[in-house]
Amino acid sequence: MNTTHDTDLVIAGGGLAGATLALALARTLPELRVTVVESFPLSSDALPTSYQPSYDARSTALAWGSRLIFEELGLWQRMAEHATPIRHIHVSDRGHFGATRLHAEDHQQDALGYVADNRWMGLCLMRELLETNVRWEAPAAVTNMEPLVDGVKVSLGEGDESRSLTAQCLVVADGGRSGLREKLGFRVNERAYGQQALIANVSTADSHQNTAYERFTDAGPMALLPHSDADAPETTSSLVWTLDDHTLEDLLAQDEAEKCRRLQARFGWRLGRFTRFGECSHYQLTLQTVDESVRPGVVLVGNAAHTLHPVAGQGFNLALRGLMALVEQFKLAVADNQPLGSLSVLNQYQAKHRQDWQQTVQFSDSLIEIFGQSMPAMAAARDIGLTGLDVLPGAKRWFARRAMGLNARVRKP
Ligand SMILES: Cc1cc2nc3c(=O)[nH]c(=O)nc-3n(C[C@H](O)[C@H](O)[C@H](O)COP(=O)(O)OP(=O)(O)OC[C@H]3O[C@@H](n4cnc5c(N)ncnc54)[C@H](O)[C@@H]3O)c2cc1C
Repeated sequence: MNTTHDTDLVIAGGGLAGATLALALARTLPELRVTVVESFPLSSDALPTSYQPSYDARSTALAWGSRLIFEELGLWQRMAEHATPIRHIHVSDRGHFGATRLHAEDHQQDALGYVADNRWMGLCLMRELLETNVRWEAPAAVTNMEPLVDGVKVSLGEGDESRSLTAQCLVVADGGRSGLREKLGFRVNERAYGQQALIANVSTADSHQNTAYERFTDAGPMALLPHSDADAPETTSSLVWTLDDHTLEDLLAQDEAEKCRRLQARFGWRLGRFTRFGECSHYQLTLQTVDESVRPGVVLVGNAAHTLHPVAGQGFNLALRGLMALVEQFKLAVADNQPLGSLSVLNQYQAKHRQDWQQTVQFSDSLIEIFGQSMPAMAAARDIGLTGLDVLPGAKRWFARRAMGLNARVRKP
């Protein structure tokens, strides 16, 4: 390692992507000195010793392939304690006959994927990371980066408070509204979907039976994911509902009973009556991608590299596969005694991951585009498509593998 630098790698952002990368590096290349800089405060004393699932917790759908990655990192056993298996996926189009159903047992799997609370995943990662040699600077913010002949100089803080760290490479994991990406001049392709995603946990009279529903309606797609709330593990689901600004504003102004009634009218009765509508949060939906995610000494990962529509549940799963590809590349660089931030190392990573992210972005975006159309001809085509998917084993297997995150090869770190 280059001991003239303060550290080998700086990761800007300790969210799900940054923290997972730090853990993967600690497991695979323990000789590397990794520093995570995170804006939010972190202290080991602040980590709760026990976890109580909350009805209002936000969650993420993890594909089967992501479970394999967390297994490799030695984290899955702990994460599985509060992860709800998705054993069936039901995709349908409101008001039309087309539908497709996927079942884990048809693919000789225990589950197609899992639903895990973001807070629980963060807690599992932090508990594990505190036992590694990864260094944390928190609360602190990366504010700039300058290239050096043999690495980078990373600035932390502003004005009198500012200081710097030298490193071989900076990994930017500061999320979808990445300030650093902009500051460092990466060109972002951004397309607004003109809708917002409403997120809430809801209760139903009938059990979800570990089924994830993706339902496309003329007003936008929605997903209901099985969620193990401690009080009612069989009848709680996480809702992602896309709505235009006006409909969202109107819905938020309603009481819980009316929210349930409107959801019922959109989703139907597959889960019986909606009986509870939890705390709501909402996000503007945009598709953000970059043409190039690397520069000499710097690489973008996670939402800083791509932010997708949440209904297809692909964003974090894609990010995880990218992180593993990056760790694999760093491992080769260390073996070849190459600097981690060299453009040839980072370009090789980008070339290996590019096909996966391009296909995943296209898959997720085309679902929204095709199912967002209300024209009758498009609706008929969707019916044929969904029915075809349901009866053609090859097409269905392709769709299932994509949903499970298995179309792209998962590399061992
Ligand atoms: C509504 C919704 C539902 C979703 N559902 C799914 C799903 O079901 N499945 C799926 O795979 N994906 C899903 N996603 C995507 C998933 O949430 C993201 O891919 C994931 O959270 C990416 O995390 P990240 O670490 O890249 O970014 P973030 O979680 O935004 O983390 C960025 C971190 O960087 C820190 N930070 C910011 N600026 C700086 C700075 N300058 N210096 C230091 N630190 C900084 C922040 O404090 C934060 O901790 C969903 C997304 C949304 C919005």
